[in-house]
Amino acid sequence: MDNTGIKPGFSEKINTPDFYKKNNQGFSKNQQIIFLAIDIITLLGIIYYGYRTDDLKGALLISAMFFAVSLIFFFGLKNRQQNEVTYDGTIKYVEKQVEDYKKTKHYLRSLIIITSDDGKDFAYSGIISSLKNDYTTYYKEGDKVRHHNGFDLPEKYDKSNDEKVVCILCGQLADIENDNCTACGKILLK
Ligand SMILES: [Zn+2]
Repeated sequence: MDNTGIKPGFSEKINTPDFYKKNNQGFSKNQQIIFLAIDIITLLGIIYYGYRTDDLKGALLISAMFFAVSLIFFFGLKNRQQNEVTYDGTIKYVEKQVEDYKKTKHYLRSLIIITSDDGKDFAYSGIISSLKNDYTTYYKEGDKVRHHNGFDLPEKYDKSNDEKVVCILCGQLADIENDNCTACGKILLK
């Protein structure tokens, strides 16, 4: 029975600016240029310092090490961005663990595994939320979902029987009547 008036389907609201920034949080072209510029300036600085202090050999050695480390970071950031895509799939497994902070403040740490439509498993671990945002009550094995690039929590395809809707931006399980998240105020995907 449809009790929310929301038809099954993925929300068009993912195209609103609330999601735009995080959706494109990868390593942008501008950031890559800034990264390389800082690299080159630092390298020139080290070499100049070596030249001035008469230790050019030492400076070149430090430069080479610095350059190697920065290359590892550069390609690491680039790869991480390329691995992040939007895809459709189904919930394979959801697990939560109650953890505590200094023995008093409790919170949840969740693991969500999604099998993409082309058969690959993707695991999202270490998702932290407050006790009231229990994702094991929200996602069920076999639920059709869409993973949006840059977000750990997927969007459910069929929200027609749900009392809650997840805010993929902050993790709140908001009452489904709301258009905006009751915690962060951003647009809810419904
Ligand atoms: Zn929110």
